[in-house]
Amino acid sequence: MATIDFEFRNKLMGEDIGSTLAYCYQCATCSGACPVAQVTNGRYNPRRLILDSLLGLKEKIFGKENSFNIWGCTICDTCDEICPQKVELTEIFTLLKNESIARGEGPEYFYSQASTIFETGKAIPMQSAIERRREQFGLPEIMPPNVEEVQTILKAAKLDEKLPEKEE
Ligand code: SF4
Ligand code: SF4
Repeated sequence: MATIDFEFRNKLMGEDIGSTLAYCYQCATCSGACPVAQVTNGRYNPRRLILDSLLGLKEKIFGKENSFNIWGCTICDTCDEICPQKVELTEIFTLLKNESIARGEGPEYFYSQASTIFETGKAIPMQSAIERRREQFGLPEIMPPNVEEVQTILKAAKLDEKLPEKEE
């Protein structure tokens, strides 16, 4: 049985602007509308994640084995818009994601995407096939990003400290 972690619960309540977490009455409207819950047959479940947060059940939320419970959310904001209690679900889930990263438990794809942005300044680096296609369509060339500038911003946000070490 999971243990209630009051410290974690109170911290979350304090960081959640307006403490909207406390307003959830478990109606499940969020889960009914969530596209990820639908395509995963409820494996991802925002109502349950809010309940676990409200109860401070840290061990059900974190841990590599629970990664999908948090990271399944695509931040589409559907739940925020539909919640009758105006619970700021995606803000709360962002706090959980931040904690997951602080614990070094983010999913592999997240670190590799972040590394790509850090190294190239873009989420999807330019490819010659795309460049050729753009030329065929008469589209203008894409200006290369200022990687140094992007890295300065990411370093200020300390993102570089979270990235895995590069193998030599
Ligand atoms: S829709 Fe809002 S009140 Fe209903 S379960 Fe989800 S978070 Fe709670
Ligand atoms: S923001 Fe996340 S939890 Fe809310 S509906 Fe979208 S995918 Fe589901």
